[in-house]
Amino acid sequence: MEKVLLITGGSRGIGAATALLAARQGYKIAINYLSDHQAAERTCAQVRELGAQAITVQADASNEDEIIRLFARVDAELGPVTALVNNAGTVAQSSRLEDMSEFRMLKIMTCNVIGPMLCAKHALLRMLPRHGGQGGSIVNVSSVAARLGSPGEYVDYAASKGALDTFTIGLSRELAGEGVRVNAVRPGYIFTDFHALSGDPSRVSKLEPGIPMQRGGTAEEVAEAIVWLLSDKASYATGTFIDLGGGR
Ligand code: NAP
Repeated sequence: MEKVLLITGGSRGIGAATALLAARQGYKIAINYLSDHQAAERTCAQVRELGAQAITVQADASNEDEIIRLFARVDAELGPVTALVNNAGTVAQSSRLEDMSEFRMLKIMTCNVIGPMLCAKHALLRMLPRHGGQGGSIVNVSSVAARLGSPGEYVDYAASKGALDTFTIGLSRELAGEGVRVNAVRPGYIFTDFHALSGDPSRVSKLEPGIPMQRGGTAEEVAEAIVWLLSDKASYATGTFIDLGGGR
């Protein structure tokens, strides 16, 4: 079976590291991104240098019309997806709940919860045997925040990742007898551009002393777990979480 992997938010950070690692494992790769065209093209070029077929697709992975267009592009250029990484996510300025607007909360929930559910829905329309597919694998990129709650920082973000975890458990059991596995990774503080969104680009370095391993993680370390969960090596794993928090 041809392996076709769609990574939402695959242009930078954890998504880009996943694209590069999966390229070495024989996947054709669709790199979705929201707005940074140059970063997407840069990652795509690196993936192609590794010998993998790859495309970039701009689309808001939290909007169903755009998701439908995204999957149609992948169908036409690479073939139907057999693997999905729900990686695109967002966070907002670090603050207490009293200072959070409805707009912010809705944006975070739409991007981090509704988007992954919709992307999984459209992946299943390609993966499930009842829809003509041959099975597949989905990995959701959650966060240790789902366990820890992120008090005083972004409880809305933590709650969105908690919802993603619950979705992972439910969907994995819904599909367990149908040839599609659903798992998640929960990264801790990882060195990516993500932390600029919450107001401090050097957040990970500053918080390193409080991490049991005394260091932040790398996108490549998270990608290793994602690509393993996607692969047949994880054939008996579904509804599983791999925490990559350096002991947090
Ligand atoms: P990042 O470096 O900021 O990259 C984010 C990626 O998501 C970019 O490719 C971005 O595209 C894309 N994106 C954002 N919103 C999108 C949308 N609506 N539709 C399509 N693409 C979208 O972030 P990261 O650190 O790799 O984070 C990836 C995932 O890991 C997120 O779900 C995050 O919650 C989770 N995570 C990160 C950490 C951490 O410490 N970094 C810890 C725990 C969990 P553009 O470049 O076009 O904007």
